[in-house]
Formats: sequence, C-alpha cells, structure tokens
Amino acid sequence: MRLTHLLSRCVLAVALAAVLAPAASSFASIVLVRAGQARSVIVVPPEADRYEKEAADELALHLRRMSGADVPIVTDGAGRDGMARILVGRAATAVVADLGVGRALGERVDEMSSRDGFVTRAGGDVVALAGARPPGTAYAAFDLLERLGCRWFFPGDLGTVVPRRRTVTIEPFETVQRPSFDLRSMWVCGFGGENLNRDDRDAIEKWRHRNRQSYDYEWNAGHNMQDTTAESLAQPEQVDVVARRILADFEREPQRQWYSLGWNDNYCHVSAVQAMGIVHPWYPLPQATDPLVRFYNAVVEKVEPTHPGKKYGFLAYMDYLPAPVTVRPHPSLVPVVAPIEQCPRHVPLGGECWQRDALLEAIRAWCRVSDRVLIYDYEPGFLIDGGVPVPCVTRMRHEYPLWHEAGVRGLYAQVQMTVMNNGPNLYVRQRLAWDIDADVDRAMTEYFGMLFGPAVTHVRKWWNALEHMMHHGRGHQHEDEIMKIVYPIDKVRRLEQHVRAAERRADAEPFRQRVRMIRFSQDNLMLYLQMRKAEDEARFADAAGLAERIWKLREQVEAFNPYFYKIGDLDRTNEHASFLSRGWAKHNASRAALIDGSAGDLVAMTGDAWSFRKDPHDVGVARGWYALDAAPGEWRSMRTSQIWETQGLEDATGRGYDGAGWYLTHVDVPGRFAGRRILLSFAGVYGQMLIWVNGRFVHHRPWNGPWWRIAYHAIEDVDVTMAIETGRRNTLMIRVHNEAEWGGIYRRVFLYAPAE
Ligand SMILES: [Zn+2]
Repeated sequence: MRLTHLLSRCVLAVALAAVLAPAASSFASIVLVRAGQARSVIVVPPEADRYEKEAADELALHLRRMSGADVPIVTDGAGRDGMARILVGRAATAVVADLGVGRALGERVDEMSSRDGFVTRAGGDVVALAGARPPGTAYAAFDLLERLGCRWFFPGDLGTVVPRRRTVTIEPFETVQRPSFDLRSMWVCGFGGENLNRDDRDAIEKWRHRNRQSYDYEWNAGHNMQDTTAESLAQPEQVDVVARRILADFEREPQRQWYSLGWNDNYCHVSAVQAMGIVHPWYPLPQATDPLVRFYNAVVEKVEPTHPGKKYGFLAYMDYLPAPVTVRPHPSLVPVVAPIEQCPRHVPLGGECWQRDALLEAIRAWCRVSDRVLIYDYEPGFLIDGGVPVPCVTRMRHEYPLWHEAGVRGLYAQVQMTVMNNGPNLYVRQRLAWDIDADVDRAMTEYFGMLFGPAVTHVRKWWNALEHMMHHGRGHQHEDEIMKIVYPIDKVRRLEQHVRAAERRADAEPFRQRVRMIRFSQDNLMLYLQMRKAEDEARFADAAGLAERIWKLREQVEAFNPYFYKIGDLDRTNEHASFLSRGWAKHNASRAALIDGSAGDLVAMTGDAWSFRKDPHDVGVARGWYALDAAPGEWRSMRTSQIWETQGLEDATGRGYDGAGWYLTHVDVPGRFAGRRILLSFAGVYGQMLIWVNGRFVHHRPWNGPWWRIAYHAIEDVDVTMAIETGRRNTLMIRVHNEAEWGGIYRRVFLYAPAE
C-alpha cells in the first residue's frame, strides 16, 4: 500500500507541468473581445451541469467586467464565422476529440483521489477547457480568468481585481493541471460557530471556488459523537451503540459516503483508559490515540459488512494527536490531524521550535499507518489571538511542502474571516493547496501590488514587519497571553509610519478603501497592546476602557467591510470569555472594582518584578525555604505579568522550564486595615501553588491542567487575613510547580480588603 502511495505522489508532481503544444497554424492570439464588442461565444452542452454552468457564467461575468462586452453563452457554437469559441466541459470534449482530459486525472489511487484536474487548450479560434471530472471544468475557467489578469484576494468586490481593457486576447497555450492536495477546504466561521448571513456565505463560497478550493468534497470529521465520553472507550458495549447509530443513519441516507467518528469536543481526556502509559509529548496526559483507534476500528468492522466502501473521518486531536503505536487504523478510517494547541508561529526543521518539529514527526507517523491523512490546519487568526494580525506565510511555505511530501492528502482550515489580519495567509494557503510548488513570492507580490496599487511598498513593509515579529518573537504557542511578547508595543508603534505613508499614497479608490484595512488592523493592535500594558501596570480601569474601545472599533470595521473583521458569535455575546474584547472589558472592570472602593479597597499592589529562583530538584519545601526571608542560592528578578518562559526559562528549541520555582516579595500593609479581611488576588498562575505569608503556610492550589484548560478562568482569591500583619512589612512566598508547557505567575498580584 505504501509503495503504491509513493508512486502516486510522483505522478502528481509530474502532472502539474504545463506544456505548450499548439498546432502549427494556431500561433496567433485568440481575440475574445475587440474594442468592447464580443468576438467570441461561450459554448456549453445543452444540459449543462452545475460546473459547466458556473464556468460559463463566470467567464461571461468577468469578460463583461473587463471590457463591457456581453459574450453570449450558447449551446451551439457552429455557424458563427469570425467568432472565437470558448468550449466548456462536454462541449469541449465533443469537439476537440484529442483534448485528453484523462491526463488530468492522473493515476487513480482510491476514492479520495481528487476529481478536480482539468485540461485547457487554446489555439486557432478555439479555447477548449474541460475537467477530467465535472468540478475540474470550473477550475479550468478560473485558471483562464487568472491568465487574463483576474484575482480574488478576499471575498466581495473590494477583494476582487479585474483588469479593465477594451480588447481581450489570449495567446495559444495548453495546460494540464491536477491539484497537489486532493482536498482543499476551509470552514469560515467566528468564535462560537457560524456567524455568516447568506450574502456573506455566498461571497465566501465564490471566493473559495475561484481560488480552486474543493466544491463538494464530501468529508466529515467533526465532533459528531456528542453523547460519548472518555469512559465510553472502556465500555465494549459502546461499540455496538455507535455502530447501531451509524447503521440507522445509513438506512436513512444510503447515498451517504462519509461518516464522522469525531469525538466530542471535551478533549476526550481518557485518563481512565491508560492502555500503555504513553505520555503525550506536548503535555503530561496519557496519549489516547491507541485506545481510540481500536474503538474506531471495532465500530467500522461492525458496519463494513453491510455498507462496504464508506469512509469514516475522525479528528486526531488533543490527547490523540500522536499516531497510534500498537494498532493501524482500518483502511476505511480517515485520520484528520488537528494541531490545535501546538505553537503555529514557527517552522519545523529549523531547530527553533520543538513543537513544530514534533508535529511534523507525528504527521509522518500518521502517514506511515494511513494513506488518507488530512490536516485540519487551524488558521491562527481563528485561534485565540485577540483579533490581532497573525502572519504565517513563512510557516506555510516551509511546512506545506513537507506535509505534502509525507503523503498528506488534504488541507482543511478553520478560519475567522478577518482579512485585515490574515488576508495574505488565506491567499497563500489557497495557492499552495492547489500547487505545492506555487511561487509564494510572486503570490505575495500580486497580493500587495494588485490590491494596494500606489501604496504597495508601505503596506508590504507593514506586513513584513509583523511577520518578522510573529516568526522571531520570544515564546511559543498562539495564545492571546503571548501576543504582547510577540508584538513589543514600541516596535508596533513605529509601524504607524508605514500606515500613514500608505494612506498618503492611496489617493484613489479602490486603493483608499483597501488601505483602511491596514489602518484598522494597526489601530486594533495598538489598542490591544495598550490594554495589555495597562493590565501589566495594574491600571485595570484603563484596561477595561481600552477593551471597550477595541469592541467599538471592531463594530466599526465590520460595518465598513464584513470581511475585514467578521465578529464571531461568541465575541458578540460571551462576556465571560476573557480572550475576547467583551471578556477583557469585564475581566478588567471586575479587577478594578476590587481595589477602587466599590467592591474592595486596595491594601497593597505587589510589584511587577518579584525575586525568583528555580528549584529543579524540588528540594525547597523540604529545606524550609519558605521560613526564610532569603533562602540560600541565587535569586533573580522575575516579572509577574508574564509567563516565565518568556523571561529566559526556555531553551533554544522553545522548550520551557518545567518544575518548581519560588517567587518572593515584600509588601507594606498599612495599619488602617487592622481588623479587616484581607485577600491575596491572583488572576493568572500556571501550575500548582503553595503560598506562605510571613513564613506561615496559607494555601495550596493543585495543578489544574495545561494552559489551554485554565488560561481563561484562572482568577483565584486567597484569604490571608490570619497571616498578614498590618502596619508593617510582610513577606509573600509562592512556590509554583508547573508540570508542562507554560509556567509561573502571569498577571499582577495584589492584596485587597473586600467591601464590608
Ligand atoms: Zn514555536
């Protein structure tokens, strides 16, 4: 199976080559439109299918936009002397008998192989374009329009570039194309799921298809098994329960080819099923892949005898991202590797990001046990980056060829429509999905040059500077929490010069409107960084105000152009999510209330920098460090507004320090708080905590999981009344023990007296 698979990859690579082979008589340009008058007809078969119709309609639409000419769509191209003919789909294969669309199919490997290849031949007075299978015909039309200069950089008219010319000609050519990835798709949504109205959805679908993303590639690997739990794996009868449900669904929909065995979205923590005790490489939880794949195999084996040939997708996600070790997936299973919690900012094989290296190895391992591996490559702008720019062109151009080489069959992405922050990502993602050898530099030059015209230099400088920070900044992972490190506020402030220069240059439409997206993105990022700075400086009321301004700006952006920044459902409604602007506002307002007299009075704000020392062998408790004002050994300064990884506790490959670390500070407590209840307030600590005040133990908080479980609900107030001494200096000592990933105190700590 593996050998066949490798051979098929070679065929794919060769089949992408374009050759020019017109007949000797057909070297002349083909005139489609002359001086605004149609000099061609578009010919479709009498009973055109949806792809032939779409190809014809799109050709007519764009030729009209280019030249003003109405090129007619006809079903009979004969008897139109002097007119060129654009033959579409079966109209082409009927006339040009040797078109050879079979060449675009390549060596058919299995039922997942792409049906999207096409052949186009232009020569004489004929342009013949046809897919090897129906969808390919539409892609052939889009390819032809691209040759005529059309681009679809983002959805809607503002993202579309159609060159204006009165005369439209095309030089003779022939191309045979087949996509590099059989599946190319993206789910455009916001936080909280779908947030698109019908117009948005139509515009996005058009944009996707024009960029040769898959049409109806029927696939399914979502979280379909909502009623199952981790414990299900330990219950053999659950195999029958799930199999029965699938059989019933197939009874109802016999034509259905795909079925989702995706686990529900509670991360499937199968601690109850530690079959082998293999620990997941990214965090200290058992790797769940083997028991899960065994479960899936058992289900498929029950269903296959009566329903052969169906496919079953499942997300290789979270605890089951690594490939199975002791079992191979059933050939009908389609693993969809979904790296959600891995750092998406760096490239593999560069020695700079162990997470990306490990992910590449995991994908290769999956491809060794399955020849149907798909990747669910989350667009970082969808992940929780606070709605700030997340350039990742550098990563994609390095990583996608490696995935392709490993044997990955498809690229799927979950994205937020926020082209002001991720437009180039989305465009390059689509280019590489179709052709892994696509010229990314050229794609970027086209993106910026055609969209921004006279402002190109400055817009591109702005984006490149962000991409550089994204790629080289300290810290790993994608979370909101780290973006203030990735984007130093002073550096981002200096980018204002590029935005202003772009605004000056873009003195005409549509460039002026397009440059607005850069303005919005820059303003949004600056507000975000100012809010983070206010939090770091314990100016919580200011931070809440800035969060409100972010929200107002986003509403303004969405009203200006819904694709610049599409507000997600969750962003709009969920005030509790502290990673979204409404959540930031609420979080900071509640912090402010604890110290401004409304819900409490500030007793003492501890400094941002505390003393810190590592305790790699975890001897500090046994030696009683907490009892001493200055435990022996080296102490250094450590900010309490950032995780410790970004303050030197991380090696060159991005592996953070895991283990114990001691934080120490002194704080004056005014005498007027005598007799009042005093709480020590934390809004963010990764890891287990032991807390001493003046050498007296006051609290233990157990380790509560990796960062992605706790990042947004880490607020904890500890009553320290019994240990605090008013009217004098107090010592606070906190031992943090971090099991994995990020560690340490990352939000400012203070003492307050709650209102009575
Ligand atoms: Zn990284």
